[in-house]
Amino acid sequence: MNKDIEIAQQTPLEPIHNIAEQLQLTSEDWEPYGHSKAKLSATLFEKLKQKKSGKIILVTSINPTPAGEGKSTVTVGLGQALNQMGKNAIIALREPSLGPVMGIKGGAAGGGYSQVLPMEDINLHFTGDIHAITTANNALAALIDNHIHQGNELQIDPRKIEWKRVVDMNDRALRQIVVGLGGANQGVPREDGFNITVASEIMAILCLATDVQDLKERLRSIVIGYTFDHHPITVSDLKVEGALTLLLKDAIKPNLVQTTENTPAIIHGGPFANIAHGCNSIIATKMAAKLADYTVTEAGFGADLGAEKYFHIKSHAGNIDTSAVVIVATVRALKMHGGVTKDRLMEENITALETGMDNLQKHIETIQAFNVPFVVAINQFPTDTKQETSFIQQWCQARGYDVALTTVWAHGGKGGIELAEKVIAKTNNFHSSFQPLYDINESLENKLRIVAQKVYGADDIEITKEARKQLRFFQEQGWGNLPVCMAKTQYSLSDDPTLLGRPTGFTITIRELRASIGAGFIVALTGDVMTMPGLPAKPAALQMDVGEDGRAKGLF
Ligand code: ADP
Repeated sequence: MNKDIEIAQQTPLEPIHNIAEQLQLTSEDWEPYGHSKAKLSATLFEKLKQKKSGKIILVTSINPTPAGEGKSTVTVGLGQALNQMGKNAIIALREPSLGPVMGIKGGAAGGGYSQVLPMEDINLHFTGDIHAITTANNALAALIDNHIHQGNELQIDPRKIEWKRVVDMNDRALRQIVVGLGGANQGVPREDGFNITVASEIMAILCLATDVQDLKERLRSIVIGYTFDHHPITVSDLKVEGALTLLLKDAIKPNLVQTTENTPAIIHGGPFANIAHGCNSIIATKMAAKLADYTVTEAGFGADLGAEKYFHIKSHAGNIDTSAVVIVATVRALKMHGGVTKDRLMEENITALETGMDNLQKHIETIQAFNVPFVVAINQFPTDTKQETSFIQQWCQARGYDVALTTVWAHGGKGGIELAEKVIAKTNNFHSSFQPLYDINESLENKLRIVAQKVYGADDIEITKEARKQLRFFQEQGWGNLPVCMAKTQYSLSDDPTLLGRPTGFTITIRELRASIGAGFIVALTGDVMTMPGLPAKPAALQMDVGEDGRAKGLF
């Protein structure tokens, strides 16, 4: 069986101008970044503003295994299937972070015959957007330390600086550091730390901004820390929003690429869904919707994380109407939820599968609560047996849920035709029925409770003393009417990664809150989730190399 990278390297790519022409773009609408990548210009959206938007389809999933359940693969495959059926479709995805690429995933650009290409570029440095975000984030950190070193006119309390440095890597050694050591010329010593770039507030801002002016406005509002007498200090107090916007002037432009079947794909922004809001940029999704009749987009991890934030954060900020949701399920993840250990997932086990269906059931209930039509997609793996996939199909049919078996990984778009047909049927005669699970004007505490109870199935939330103090303070600052962005493990509906299936009788511990005022949400850290992940014992990086022909080896 060919590996993802072999398939990717054997697939002939259309020159990017052909893809742009397919979308009826003129030369001023885009700029080439080499032969097979382009950036879409800032003026394009303005130009398309009057055009009617096409339908938006969100792809989400059940709680995944560490390797991922194929959401990106199904997203790409569904876009390709729609195109094969003669529909005008486009894909909007997130850009992979180098952390998981070097860590466990080894690549995150879809898989098999449903990939976005050139996968080596997309998985490595792509068009430099994540590096630009890293630089903007760290420029702000340097400007804060410099301000204090130069006399600290704003009276920033060095012990209350919330703004962390970032790097796009899983690097646990940088979680907590001390900066400014070495005497008076080196600045003022203080405790600091690193997050992974995809958890940076600037990543969230780039993904939630609706244009460059909005980007600048959001950057201005970032709260970097507090004064000695507890007043918030913003980027506008430091007067550096212009410089930060400048560093992001190209990163704000969405990137155009193609799939293994030359279907257009826009890749832009890449926040993780466990520790950030998990969706590609609003600009990319809205632009895609203007360019095609169907936009297939994805939100990270399970529906408890990605889809919840897609609806409460992204759709809220961007006024996005979603016509249908695809819930990806796999036999192996369902068996894991039914109690099978990682080393035995290849074996047929209908009893475990049956038990594991509880996890799918919970995610279906969540999407039903948002009142958006959905289709379950079984992403077929080579190790699945006929009995196993039939079991899931029958389980869905017995409950009146639309279900489609997809083989997009093995067969590309052809393997997604049944899914595409069912999705189209759901979106015909679309009228918006979406309803958020909470009213934005509820208190922060209530919003946390509603997500924990309605989406995770928790009995209640437990707020630590420290977090309760922060809640009170944030409400007093007037930040109570922002949505909440839960930071929670992706493996469980609860905040304990070992509780699989559909746990009951648990509470969610709210450990700490972080105010992302520029992004426009309050982050709630639950359980022991970290905003800087670590690498595993055998990182994917051990497989990687460059061949004599200069091409990448060892990306998955
Ligand atoms: P997610 O978006 O859910 O994290 P991806 O689409 O990135 O998952 O897929 C994760 C990995 O699983 C990729 O290496 C991909 O090639 C592989 N994969 C996805 N679907 C299948 C499948 N049906 N059969 C075999 N491997 C698959």
